[in-house]
Amino acid sequence: VPAGFWCGQKVDNQGRQSSNMSQSQLAIPVTLNDVPPSIAEMLDDEERWEFNILELEAATHKRPLTYLGLKIFTSFGVCEFLNCSEATLRSWLQLIEASYHSSNSYHNSTHAADVLHATAYFLRKERVKSSLDQLDEVAALIAATVHDVDHPGRTNSFLCNAGSELAILYNDTAVLESHHAALAFQLTVRDSKSNIFKNTDRNQFRTLRQAIIDMVLATEMTRHFEHVNKFVNSINKPMAAIEDSDSEGQANFRNSPENRLLIKRMMIKCADVANPCRPLELCIEWAGRISEEYFAQTDEEKRQGLPVVMPVFDRNTCSVPKSQISFIDYFITDMFDAWDAFASLPGLMEHLSENYKYWKNLDEMKCKSLRPPPPP
Ligand code: AMP
Ligand code: ZN
Repeated sequence: VPAGFWCGQKVDNQGRQSSNMSQSQLAIPVTLNDVPPSIAEMLDDEERWEFNILELEAATHKRPLTYLGLKIFTSFGVCEFLNCSEATLRSWLQLIEASYHSSNSYHNSTHAADVLHATAYFLRKERVKSSLDQLDEVAALIAATVHDVDHPGRTNSFLCNAGSELAILYNDTAVLESHHAALAFQLTVRDSKSNIFKNTDRNQFRTLRQAIIDMVLATEMTRHFEHVNKFVNSINKPMAAIEDSDSEGQANFRNSPENRLLIKRMMIKCADVANPCRPLELCIEWAGRISEEYFAQTDEEKRQGLPVVMPVFDRNTCSVPKSQISFIDYFITDMFDAWDAFASLPGLMEHLSENYKYWKNLDEMKCKSLRPPPPP
């Protein structure tokens, strides 16, 4: 890796922070009551799947995670559960959000806020709610918030090929996911002002920590099919075999610790890649953002003579519609069919099918861009 690759980052791989936070802290409200009315009004929509995270991104000057986090964590009673003050939660959210790179077009704090939003949405589904306990919920919300913290906007393969410090530290294995989880805890416990765990007892902390780490590591895509197959075989198939009339039998089955673990993994995985199931305008914007981040990586690989790990994502040749069709065909359809069969998500499935048709239509028009050309 070139000298100084990590130097531009706000947080190094030891979790030391070099950024100046004072400016962002000044702009952050003192309590939820101080949220500007226009933002508070936007957040009223938070329970809807169609919630517009991009409007929140603009209204909060790219700090959607702090505001949405305050709203969602409060609604799930996270402060009461952890026995921490709202001031500590706010300080923690600011610290985590500041440790995302706003310079990344996709992996910035808006993506984290989007994943937090999807996670909260899933947690409110009856099937999910009745399977998990409050510790699972709190762990899932924290995991979603931190799951890509300090993402450098480059993939694991890139970091390994470049011999980056992180790849060396984590032996080329789940490099980014290991870093996100480790850094999240380093940041959290470093200063008691933002340590949301400071009042949780040792046992509860250990259980929470284990659940958070497991979920963040589950977002690694090399084990995608393993996680989805386990969910289908251990949850959906046996559930279908228990009589619908036997709701107590079904609930007891879902509530076992092993099955709760699989449900939590599946939930964060789906939340992480739910952008193809968002309303079309949001889906298009996310597709543009991930493509741009991948193009920037390909540019750098070419510049540095590194292997080009995703040759499809070359800004000179890429068909974005084709890339989205492939992504949906390969990763999304089966996983969301399984998650929908469990959690019942007809709205998401409707958006997914509509978005898929949109990309197919562009591809049939031989259009390679995000949107059709304007009529002559
Ligand atoms: P994460 O890095 O935790 O966000 O993991 C999600 C994975 O899915 C990453 O490799 C993303 O780059 C990828 N991904 C998410 N959305 C899309 C999309 N719309 N098109 C292509 N890849 C995507
Ligand atoms: Zn992510």
